[in-house]
Amino acid sequence: MITSLLIANRGEIACRIIRTARQLGIRTVAVYSDADANALHVRSADEAVHIGASPARDSYLIGERIIAAAKQTGAAAIHPGYGFLSENAEFAEAVQAAGLIWVGPNPDSIRAMGLKDAAKKLMQDARVPVTPGYLGEDQSPDRLQFEADRIGYPVLIKAVAGGGGKGMRRVDAAADFADALASCQREAASSFGNTQVLIEKYILAPRHIEVQVFGDSHGNIVHLFERDCSMQRRHQKVIEEAPAPGMDSLTRAAVCDAAVKAARAVNYVGAGTIEFIADASEGLRADRIWFMEMNTRLQVEHPVTEAITGVDLVEWQLRVASGEPLPKRQFEISMEGWAMEARLYAEDPEKGFLPSTGSLDYFALPHGIRVDTGVAEGATVSRFYDPMIAKLIATGYRRDAAREQLAEACKNIRVQPVRTNAEFLVRLLESQAFVDAEIDTGLIERNLDTLVEREAPDAQLLSAGALLLLAAPDKGLAAQPLLSGKGNREWVVSSGTQWNPLFGFRLNAAAKRTVRLAVDGRPMEIDLDATGPVEPSRYDIDGDSVWVQAEDGVAGHRFSFPLSAASQTIGSAGDGAILAPMPGRIVSVEVAEGQAVTAGQKLLVLEAMKMEQALLAPFDGVVETLTATPGAQVQVDTLLAKVVKAE
Ligand code: ADP
Ligand code: ADP
Ligand code: MG
Repeated sequence: MITSLLIANRGEIACRIIRTARQLGIRTVAVYSDADANALHVRSADEAVHIGASPARDSYLIGERIIAAAKQTGAAAIHPGYGFLSENAEFAEAVQAAGLIWVGPNPDSIRAMGLKDAAKKLMQDARVPVTPGYLGEDQSPDRLQFEADRIGYPVLIKAVAGGGGKGMRRVDAAADFADALASCQREAASSFGNTQVLIEKYILAPRHIEVQVFGDSHGNIVHLFERDCSMQRRHQKVIEEAPAPGMDSLTRAAVCDAAVKAARAVNYVGAGTIEFIADASEGLRADRIWFMEMNTRLQVEHPVTEAITGVDLVEWQLRVASGEPLPKRQFEISMEGWAMEARLYAEDPEKGFLPSTGSLDYFALPHGIRVDTGVAEGATVSRFYDPMIAKLIATGYRRDAAREQLAEACKNIRVQPVRTNAEFLVRLLESQAFVDAEIDTGLIERNLDTLVEREAPDAQLLSAGALLLLAAPDKGLAAQPLLSGKGNREWVVSSGTQWNPLFGFRLNAAAKRTVRLAVDGRPMEIDLDATGPVEPSRYDIDGDSVWVQAEDGVAGHRFSFPLSAASQTIGSAGDGAILAPMPGRIVSVEVAEGQAVTAGQKLLVLEAMKMEQALLAPFDGVVETLTATPGAQVQVDTLLAKVVKAE
């Protein structure tokens, strides 16, 4: 077994690989760019080597630097993770040429599967069913148009060098073909430096089914069943599960056999994934599943396979790379239960899923399920890399149990101020079609409007949160309204079930109190008196911000009192008496006795419970009495000033 390993990647996958390496007693070496100097993967590894500037092309994509880092630290092997150099055959060769172990397939296998057209030809020869289409050398627009017409619309134009959902165009009518081709080729040129395309029949009601395969250097190849990755947005996976819903044993046997055949055709060694596309218009059928491509690396969604098979795929990768045979033979591999993974992205669904960057001032992920993440609270999500910040993996005996657990977990994701797709994930997991497993790759796009809708913050909930925040830093609090005699309303913040008021908040019936909050980063005013608080079903206080969620809430709201902008108390008792709304300190007095004031004019500022409150004139008038002096400590309901109506 290898004793030391360099991980040529970052983020959650680097952390994931380090975890298993550590369990196996392998010394780990991380590499990092400028932006990642304090990243979690750097802190998790035994050693770390700086390899360049923040853009990936200046660091994580420079093979020579990574190999030099391995040499320098005496690492025996390199694990590429996914993305970056993981499917770069030249890099794999350079690693081996440097006398290091490459934790991945033979460079020839990578090359054979690297271009989609060559891979499909290879699969045709190996009698693996492939999506009908055109794979020809003749790339003239006329020929491509002719082939598309012959295949019949809709068709999909794919860059042969494409990946990650890029370089694909669906074309619905012959008249649109030329434009779509040109735009696909432009994207392919800039992203992959290769304009060659293939054309496929566009499968209607498509489902993305893929099979995990594994080979060793002794000629053994096994599969570890399938995953369903049909929940995609713009051809990028969002939720993955294993097994595939509605998969019967005959169809499973057919698709898994085809996958093993495909892996065998390239003498595959290590972890790989054979992706298929299924026409699911009449359910999954063995004669309607076609090879799409092979990913010659560990896949983002590998944890769902680990969950149903009990196999640690990274451990297998390291054993196989060390020359050991596969730990299990095919008949020893079985699956049990259901697993579902959600990808948490730092992005703003409301703004067209634009990546959201910035500091993770607050970052709390749920407990009790598997969470693979590459960031910690306080980290920065930079614009340089993939915005996926975590994966949540739920399990259950049946699909529904896993799905419910995952939805529940996503409701407990608390990230601020960076925006995430957490609420979108909850909506998707709870959408009827997904619940019923009536899935295909177009589901998200068809339901986008309802999936990205944001829950409106509930004013009562927010006022409860405001009270909780006022009572912070004590945790385990509850806010409850009390009605006392004379129509006075009092709110009491107490701890737990004990009637042990920590903070009383009394209001004269005629008074009105407005708190200005920053809700999910946006300003909002709440009239505490008009709404009255309700008890949030969940909440969490952290410094000067609080997260509250209603019983039936999807993702909760996080808010804080703005530190600079003072919250305001508007008005007072109807008689113009300005009473201290809570115990506090007078920060400033803005008026003088006898001064004429207009409604809303600032009279004085009180600081209480970390919050500044401006007390304003309730109506046009004259300051008749002024007892407040700057710096004075006052009790609740102390008369501070009195305004009388102008004659
Ligand atoms: P697929 O290629 O079928 O979409 P996955 O859904 O497993 O496969 O996503 C992996 C792909 O996502 C990689 O091929 C890569 O293009 C991209 N990717 C994911 N994470 C990263 C990363 N950290 N850096 C660069 N690319 C990444
Ligand atoms: P990438 O390398 O970008 O992952 P794939 O060939 O794996 O490219 O395709 C990505 C996704 O595009 C698939 O998961 C599927 O949703 C969709 N797709 C690919 N081929 C077809 C097809 N022929 N018909 C319909 N959808 C397709
Ligand atoms: Mg793919």
